[in-house]
Amino acid sequence: DAERLRLPPWLKTTIPTGSKFSELKAQLRSLNLSTVCEEARCPNIGECWSGGQHGTSTATIMLMGDTCTRGCMFCSVKTSRAPPPLDPNEPAHTAAAIKQWGLGYIVLTSVDRDDLPDGGSAHLAETVREIKKQNSEILVECLVPDFRGNKESIARLADCGLDVFAHNIETVERLTPFVRDRRAGYRQTLKVLKTAKDINPDLVTKSSIMLGLGETDEQVEQTMKDLRSVGVDCLTLGQYMQPTKRHLKVFEYVTPAKFKQWEERGAELGFLYTASGPLVRSSYRAGEFFISSLLK
Ligand code: SF4
Ligand code: SF4
Repeated sequence: DAERLRLPPWLKTTIPTGSKFSELKAQLRSLNLSTVCEEARCPNIGECWSGGQHGTSTATIMLMGDTCTRGCMFCSVKTSRAPPPLDPNEPAHTAAAIKQWGLGYIVLTSVDRDDLPDGGSAHLAETVREIKKQNSEILVECLVPDFRGNKESIARLADCGLDVFAHNIETVERLTPFVRDRRAGYRQTLKVLKTAKDINPDLVTKSSIMLGLGETDEQVEQTMKDLRSVGVDCLTLGQYMQPTKRHLKVFEYVTPAKFKQWEERGAELGFLYTASGPLVRSSYRAGEFFISSLLK
């Protein structure tokens, strides 16, 4: 494909190191817990698992199965209208494994389950409660589906003891119909984030934007302002990478200098923290940034 953009040098990654990283990796082997970090071969695993200066190691796990009821154009998770039923033991098993693993910060992500009447919100909330019950020290972030804007489902998550409520806007408003599943919406995402904050003002809220899909600077700026207008506290910006040939093409590789500018703009707009860089994913060093922002 002659049209394909060459991978710039800043996206070529190195092998992770660090003693905390090796320790966590060894512990993980016996726990029967699979992480998104390993399965997606995420380049940030060394940094995230090591946890930075405060030692707040972060890992991400996926709940509610590996099959999504939606099909976003940037995502390689498999799709079905009727995924297998939920595993009722998942909340307790996950909590027990996470407790043994000794992480500082866990990000729970999930597929969308439009097939379930509550979108899986009770299952996710139960998982958070179990994790907190078994280990009150660990910080929990949940990257939640939009639950089609359903207030009860959002409230179930907002009030379950969660520390960070994350829901990704993914892209600017103009590109949303070309990037996300048609059931997801830019306005709906803003509404979900606002509803969570209205229900529980103490909850830290977070969102993420992928760059390199053809968005303009003005549109990125507007998206950041829209997120702030509904009280979103934390923001991440990262490069979109095409997972397979069937997915959306990369329009542009955004330079590290440009990502830095967005980080500075995020600070000016009042985000608690803005993590912005070519390799940043929504869970990138989440524990470390969260703790640092509290100590500021
Ligand atoms: Fe894991 Fe997310 Fe960090 Fe990647 S960015 S290593 S998926 S926590
Ligand atoms: Fe992927 Fe999430 Fe979209 Fe499902 S809803 S296809 S998991 S991005």
